[in-house]
Amino acid sequence: MATQGTPVCRLCRREGEKLYLKGDKCFSNKCPVEKRRYPPGQHGQARQQKLSDYGVQLREKQKMRRIYGVREGQFRNYMKEAIRRRGVTGETLLQLLEMRLDNVVYRLGLASSRPQARQFVGHGHILVNGRRVDIPSYIVKPGEEIEIAESVRSMPPLLAAIESAGGRALPAWLEFDANKMRGSVLSVPIRDEIDTDVQESLIVEFYSR
Ligand code: SF4
Repeated sequence: MATQGTPVCRLCRREGEKLYLKGDKCFSNKCPVEKRRYPPGQHGQARQQKLSDYGVQLREKQKMRRIYGVREGQFRNYMKEAIRRRGVTGETLLQLLEMRLDNVVYRLGLASSRPQARQFVGHGHILVNGRRVDIPSYIVKPGEEIEIAESVRSMPPLLAAIESAGGRALPAWLEFDANKMRGSVLSVPIRDEIDTDVQESLIVEFYSR
C-alpha cells in the first residue's frame, strides 16, 4: 500500500490527527496521536511554521490519500476521473474513493480498518455478486452485493474484526444482513453521507494550480 513501509501511526502524526488506520488501537489510549501531538522525526517538536496556501492544500491532499490508502499516481487518476465526470468535482472524488471495494468492506463493518479491509480483499475473502474479487480498487456499483466467502466466515481475525467494527454506524447508502454476512450498496453516497473529515475543495484547488 501507499505507506511504503512507514509505520502507519507516523502518517497520522504527520497529519496531526487520527486517520483511523489501526482498528481498535485508534480508539484506545495507546494511540500515538493522543500521546504526541507533534509531527514525527527529529524536528517534530520544533515550532511549526505557518503553512502557505499551497502547503495547506498539499497536506489536505496527503491526508485524504492516506485515509483511503491510495498511491500518488492512483489518486491523480481519481482526480482526473472526477474532473471528467459531471457534478461537483470534490464530491465526485470522494464518491469514487468511497465506492472502492476495500472502503465498502470497511464501511460495512467487515474489517476494523481500511488497511485490514484491503488485506481481506487482496486475500480473496470477499465476493461481489457471488464472484471472488481480489482487487481493492474495484469500484462497486449500486445494487451489487458484497459478502464474505463461506470458507473463511469462521476465521478468528475476521470475527474479531467484525466484533470490533460493530460499534460503527452503518452509512445510509449501505445495508447489511449480519446473519448472512452480506451487504449491498443502495446508492452512490452524497457528501452529507460521507463522514470523512477532509476539505475536498482544497484538493481540487491543489490540482487546479
Ligand atoms: Fe492513527 Fe490509529 Fe495509529 Fe492513532 S492508533 S496514530 S489513529 S493509526
